[in-house]
Amino acid sequence: MRTFDVVITGSGLGGLVCGAILAKHGFHVCVLEKNKQAGGCLQTFSRDKVLFDSGVHYIGGLEEGQNLHQVFKYLGIMDKLKLKRLDEDGFDHIIFDNDPVVYKLAQGYDRFIKGLLEYFPDEEAAIQQYCAAIKDVCSCFPLYNLRAGIAQEKERVLTINTYYFINSLTENKKLRQVLAGNNILYAGVAETTPFYVHALITNSYIESSWRCVNGGSQITKFLARIITNNGGVVERHKEVVKIKEEGGVVTHVTIAGGEQIGGKHFISNVHPARTLDLLESDMIRGAYRSRLNTLENSVSALMVNIVLKPDSFPYLNYNLYLHQSDDVWAAVKYTPDTWPGTVAVYFQNNGRDDGFADGISTLSYMRAEEVAPWADTYNVVSQESYRGDGYEAFKTEKAEKIIDILENTYPNIRECIQSYSVGTPLSFRDYMGTADGSMYGFLKDSSDPMRTLISPRTRIPNLYLTGQNLNLHGILGVTMSAIVTSSELLGMENLITEINKA
Ligand SMILES: Cc1cc2nc3c(=O)[nH]c(=O)nc-3n(C[C@H](O)[C@H](O)[C@H](O)COP(=O)(O)OP(=O)(O)OC[C@H]3O[C@@H](n4cnc5c(N)ncnc54)[C@H](O)[C@@H]3O)c2cc1C
Repeated sequence: MRTFDVVITGSGLGGLVCGAILAKHGFHVCVLEKNKQAGGCLQTFSRDKVLFDSGVHYIGGLEEGQNLHQVFKYLGIMDKLKLKRLDEDGFDHIIFDNDPVVYKLAQGYDRFIKGLLEYFPDEEAAIQQYCAAIKDVCSCFPLYNLRAGIAQEKERVLTINTYYFINSLTENKKLRQVLAGNNILYAGVAETTPFYVHALITNSYIESSWRCVNGGSQITKFLARIITNNGGVVERHKEVVKIKEEGGVVTHVTIAGGEQIGGKHFISNVHPARTLDLLESDMIRGAYRSRLNTLENSVSALMVNIVLKPDSFPYLNYNLYLHQSDDVWAAVKYTPDTWPGTVAVYFQNNGRDDGFADGISTLSYMRAEEVAPWADTYNVVSQESYRGDGYEAFKTEKAEKIIDILENTYPNIRECIQSYSVGTPLSFRDYMGTADGSMYGFLKDSSDPMRTLISPRTRIPNLYLTGQNLNLHGILGVTMSAIVTSSELLGMENLITEINKA
């Protein structure tokens, strides 16, 4: 049996950042990935030679002096990443049907406030209060500010609800909607989404917003290289089917096909509920198991990836959030009549500087139940399977609807389309390994926040969790969660000191 110091199941960003940090500290690391491509949501794919991202369209906090920049600098990847800063005067454009105004969210708090005041000149107090609240909430999360602190610091803000808090700031209905206009970034649910989720994400994008040129998989490549350069391995086509506990500790994992891999420490980057399915042990309490099994996951999505005819459509250096109604919180609860409600639109030009886009990705909510008729079909690159004519027709119908909506904003868009492909909740399930294709994992709940915050520790002392289900999803949230997980082996104070010194 091969043995390592640390065996990590799953090569998503969480697994890779843990692997890289621990490898840099001399641990002999093994990362096991079930897919052909490492990276989980960082995976890219190409259609008609155009590269598309599966789960990273823009990243915040990457300017010198900002949190993610410092962590990536510490990891040694910051100077290697090819990034393009989104428009500073409007990285996100919020657009509503029946409203000709395009509401632009700008980078930098001064510019952000000035920009909003152009649309809402009488709302300065509300806008200032909103920004102050975001900064205050962010200050309660020590790691977000790359300082050691105590968990209790954040307790006072965990129960603030995004929808109710924003509504309490102003009577101006349009401003309320604009401030939450990109809430698909966290699958916002009016009754439950905590304001801290909104604040941590929004703050990072207001600070600075960046697109990965040539896709987010470059992050995978550089992190994997740190692991291998330090003597570790990142192995693909290795699906962990069992995590075995014996005598109070995990002793090994078993890979499909039967190989066993032993280790001193085990980290699971797989969804925590799925981790428990894999775990052979009676040490896990029933209450913990039932909590993880009953926590609600965020909704899944439909993604349309459009290949554009060469030189037909301009590259837009910002993102669009198109809303079909005046209620940005309604889309997540769509009905057949109101779907999609919200369409997020991301442009790519694969790094060329010719002013044209070569691809557009759209993202809309979709519940897993919509693709239930095909739920017993599986599709991963190594085992391409055709899910059937009915599925193809379903995808075409949905994609055409999305393109109709794009036409409202860009009337000539159809003439520019060369081809398109469609990802559904089944694609997310099969490529990322969540049971129902959930985009962001466990939904956080402002009415019961502690229940939805998951510790990296388990009852088994050498088995840890990492990834988007712990604290926060997204490139920033998952990186921070990986620091928390790694700190279980390295100590938080030491690790933060090293990160800040980098
Ligand atoms: C559509 C979409 C758009 C997004 N857009 C953005 C964005 O623009 N900006 C941003 O910051 N964030 C974005 N996110 C969120 C972000 O991409 C994720 O939160 C983050 O990448 C998740 O990382 P992770 O490590 O938790 O897990 P994942 O990326 O889910 O990785 C888990 C890995 O574990 C592997 N695995 C599962 N089971 C097993 C097993 N049994 N054995 C071996 N391997 C296994 C999976 O194959 C996968 O590679 C988006 C997410 C989605 C879905």
